[in-house]
Amino acid sequence: MGIGQGVIRGHAITLRRFVLTFWRDFRLGKAFARRGGGHGAFDFFQKPERGHEPTVTQDFTTDGLFTVEYPDERLPVYERFRVLPMLVYDTEDGNVRCTSCNICAKVCPPQCIWMTQAKSPKGTVVPLPEDFYIDMDVCMNCGLCSEYCPFDAIKMDQNFELSNYERHQTHIYSLQDLLVSSEYYSKTHPDAWASAEQVAERGKVAKKKDQRLQKALSAGRSAPAAKPSPQPAGA
Ligand code: SF4
Ligand code: SF4
Repeated sequence: MGIGQGVIRGHAITLRRFVLTFWRDFRLGKAFARRGGGHGAFDFFQKPERGHEPTVTQDFTTDGLFTVEYPDERLPVYERFRVLPMLVYDTEDGNVRCTSCNICAKVCPPQCIWMTQAKSPKGTVVPLPEDFYIDMDVCMNCGLCSEYCPFDAIKMDQNFELSNYERHQTHIYSLQDLLVSSEYYSKTHPDAWASAEQVAERGKVAKKKDQRLQKALSAGRSAPAAKPSPQPAGA
């Protein structure tokens, strides 16, 4: 390829893309109609309720101009999209899953998790966190804490709208800030939730099988030994 030809070719590709982007809209007379599925030009006073903004998608069937009017509209986030950690409690009984085992704090690369374990009045250890903190400015969203937690207690949240006016106290998330219900988690992570449910179901079946096996074995051990069969006379 001669000198400069690559540059010209690159510009031609960009120009083609530019024209094609608008072509369909001009051809269909929709040059000034915006795409994205949300509100039109006169919907200014009908803003969607915060947290219930329509989700719009730009997939392979979409061509022409496409604008997502964030924050009134937003692109969907995928299940494994992760921002900050959250601590899950069971919706049915309010049980906080975290046992304060400290594994997440140990594996956290920037060491931004710290906690204290609850103690009974007698001083014995209670498998619950008394305090649990994560410094969100230090967290690098790697998800290792969630990968290593043996109790499915810490998961990665998808909420990315976290800006505020104070960046010291409010960026240290406490237990209260971190707790979310298992119902919330099941909605934001339906595939992971279904998979965990299946594993739990298989675990229950395996446990039942073990119990039956143990019962059968112990019944066999306590059964009287079989009498020797009588021998024929003179044998
Ligand atoms: S979140 Fe999980 S890994 Fe971290 S302390 Fe609690 S139980 Fe242990
Ligand atoms: S996501 Fe990564 S950096 Fe953030 S708290 Fe978990 S382990 Fe630490």
